[in-house]
Amino acid sequence: MSPGTLLLGLALLIILALVVALPLFDRKTPAIEPPSRRETLEQERRAVIGAIRELDFDYRTGKIGAEDYKRLREARVARGAQILRELAELADEHDATDVEAEIEAQVARLHKVAASDGRAPAKAVCPSCGHAVGADDKFCPQCGQRLWPRQSEAVASAE
Ligand SMILES: [Zn+2]
Repeated sequence: MSPGTLLLGLALLIILALVVALPLFDRKTPAIEPPSRRETLEQERRAVIGAIRELDFDYRTGKIGAEDYKRLREARVARGAQILRELAELADEHDATDVEAEIEAQVARLHKVAASDGRAPAKAVCPSCGHAVGADDKFCPQCGQRLWPRQSEAVASAE
């Protein structure tokens, strides 16, 4: 075996070793990455907003009663608010003070999208008297029923 052939063989060995070893150094980034916390939260946010919208629809079509509607909606808005707070923390934003309002705004946007799809326009109604209310109304203009209490206030009044 000539020294040239030996060197060539050695070079091939080194290349082979690198090809085998490189993927081992790359273990930190597997081919299929689990969803990040942010992606998971974004998915949950969409799910919660969709669920609130569905709940609004079920209530308008009389599928569920006012009591269930109010209870379920509050729980979902609270969950949505919690997700927005976590997302804001991940993004290092510290202005997540009105997350419940933001959830309502996102639901309202979804309602508008549905309306422009040619379906019946979404109309919120008071859970107490059934009077039509604006999506942003905090109180029913007919009976004065508080419409979507904020989570903090709901907790405070329960104590
Ligand atoms: Zn009312």
